[in-house]
Amino acid sequence: MSTVIPVPDNWEELVGDWDGLRNGYPHGDMDETVRDCVRRLGETLSGAGAASGAGPRGDLVLFWTLGLLTVAPYVGFGNPGAGVEDEAVAVLRRAARRDEGQSCAHAWHPYDIDVDALLEDLPLEMELLSSPVDQALDGLLPEDLLPQIYRDQLEDDEAEPANLSGAEILVRWQCPRTAPGFARAALDYLGATVR
Ligand SMILES: [Zn+2]
Repeated sequence: MSTVIPVPDNWEELVGDWDGLRNGYPHGDMDETVRDCVRRLGETLSGAGAASGAGPRGDLVLFWTLGLLTVAPYVGFGNPGAGVEDEAVAVLRRAARRDEGQSCAHAWHPYDIDVDALLEDLPLEMELLSSPVDQALDGLLPEDLLPQIYRDQLEDDEAEPANLSGAEILVRWQCPRTAPGFARAALDYLGATVR
């Protein structure tokens, strides 16, 4: 059964690990949590490059990119082991460069949200993003996928994303440009450039 965005079977455990690392109550080896995410993102990027039949809904690149974005405060400022930050930056650059030559009709993507507000709600958002497609569309509301605090700050209610329905916001999550955008946000946070 296809889910809203592709996620691994143990996504709940992984999101819990990332969230714990971000919020100062890590489970297990902190560097290993980051390195696992770096490794999996790298493998996914390589696999997707080799097999163009990655499927219309894409691959796990978005999931692993969200992982590195979540743990970025530790990577950037938590004094990780030697090489951890360099490895994270290198793989994020590969993810960010996937955006090159891609265009879409969307004025807005979820990476345009204030990243802190988004990550605060990520465990909840992942519940929805990992659910089966038909189930997720059932009565979906915009606030299910956008932090309420962020929606309250929107000034132009005629423009994206304020005028979008829940289903339309979901399409922005599924856009191929969303993962590269989050990779750029993580690089930004780490003070690194795309190149
Ligand atoms: Zn798009």
